[in-house]
Order: sequence, then C-alpha cells, then structure tokens
Amino acid sequence: MRFRFPVLGSLCLLSVSGCVPATPAATSTPPASTSTSALDPDQITQVSVINALMLGQYDGQMGIPEMLRYGNFGVGTLDHLDGELIVLDGKAYQVRGDGQVLEVGPDRSTPFVVVTSFDQDGAFPCPPVGSLTDLEAHLNESLAQKNNFVAIRVEARFRSLTLRSVHRQEPPYKPLAEVAKSQSVWTHENLSGTLVGIRSPAWVDGLNVPGYHWHFLSEDHKIGGHLLDCRVRDGRVRYDICGDWLLKLSESKEFNTTDLGRDLSRDLKRVESSRGQEDEVDAKK
Ligand SMILES: [Zn+2]
Repeated sequence: MRFRFPVLGSLCLLSVSGCVPATPAATSTPPASTSTSALDPDQITQVSVINALMLGQYDGQMGIPEMLRYGNFGVGTLDHLDGELIVLDGKAYQVRGDGQVLEVGPDRSTPFVVVTSFDQDGAFPCPPVGSLTDLEAHLNESLAQKNNFVAIRVEARFRSLTLRSVHRQEPPYKPLAEVAKSQSVWTHENLSGTLVGIRSPAWVDGLNVPGYHWHFLSEDHKIGGHLLDCRVRDGRVRYDICGDWLLKLSESKEFNTTDLGRDLSRDLKRVESSRGQEDEVDAKK
C-alpha cells in the first residue's frame, strides 16, 4: 500500500451534556481498511495537520475511499491542492479552481481533511443574517461547547454567498499563503444549499483551523467552494458535538523533517478568510 499511517492517538476530550452516548454497536477502534464497521458517533478524524498544508505538503495522505470510512461529513482538500473538498451525505465532492463541481473518484486522495460521521445532537432555526460574522456570532451563542469539535450543517436559502477555490499545484509545491494569492473568488445570489462546517477549539492552532471552517455545496451540486461570506435568508442549523479526536499523521520523510511547530497563524487567517489583495492590505492594519 502506498500510504500507511500509524494511529498516533485518539484524544478523548471532556464529554458535554449534549453528547449522544455511543451505541452498543459503536466502537472507538478505527475501522480496518477493508471494513466499513461503525464508527464512534462522537469521533472526528483529521488527516495531517494544518501547518503541513500551510507549508506546501499537498501530496495525498489518505485515499478517498478510506477517508469515507471515517465519516460522511467534512471539509478538506485534494492531492496537489486540487480544489476544495466537501464531504456530504457520504459522498466526496471536489470544487476545482475553475469552479466546476465533480464527485471525487476512488483514485484520488487527500493531504488534509476533517471528517466525522454526522450524528445529530440537536437543531435550531437559522435566523436571517447579513454576514458570515453574524452567523458565527449567533452560533457562538447557541453552541457554547467551545472546547469540543462541532460539526455544523446549515441547510439554508442564501441571499448571497462568496466562495473561493484554489488551483491544482505541481511539485515543488509553494506554501499555501503563496498559492492562495491566485485563488478564484465568486459571489452567487439567491441560492439554496448546505454549509458544511467544522468548528474547532481555539487550542488547535497549528494543528487545524481554530474556529469555523465552512465549505458550501448548492442543492443541485453545481456550485460550491470554501466559504468567505454569506447572507442567509432562512434555514436550519443541525449540529454534532464531537468529543473524540483522531489525528492521522504521515510517516513520510517530508512530514517528519519539517518544523511544524512554527507560528503560521497569521498566514492561516489570511488564507482562510481573505478575498484577495484588498483584504490582505486590510489585514496588515
Ligand atoms: Zn476550506
């Protein structure tokens, strides 16, 4: 097998009252590569760490079929940083740098992804909001579990959505902050679809994206991307609190000889939320 990963650790976080207890059939053991055995419903699985992606480690680390055994819901990217990856209802979708949305074939792999088996712990209406900042502020009030991971699914009608994707890269890879300067950004109006979100605790800095990381897929699966902003007409929020965190680390030389402890948080913030040059200027103020 081309890619092999040690299970370095499954970090059990404090449980919260909203947690759904594991069913008798569930197990905390990761699925065997040949099996589709049930996952712990509270487990969230991550491939690689965000600093490795930030530093240009875009080679695939886990095949898409194996990734789908760890969850049916999540966000990430594809090998060669070939666009945005959306995992929704057990299927993997790629939003290419030119905006085209494709279902991902079994021959592809991911260098970075966060997936979970979406097991709803609760739901509430999504109020009309005028920006992504407002939506996140509303979610912060409604979902107080700030030190657990939360998978958030927002099915809504949107007044507008600003999305981006990145273009496929070839080695030697450039750092993500460099690549993101040539990202594609689109704004769409009056669209229905699903926000696929992962909210990570603030303490994941360097390992994952602290706070909210959203991707979007339209109802007709023709439009998608990494979300930069949105205005919501109405919708519904469903959430899944995830208290078991499984981190899959590469054994590759590249991964093991890179200083991944550097503080790249400023670059990450720019990569995750910037619309382009204009925002970059603002970010320096
Ligand atoms: Zn993203």
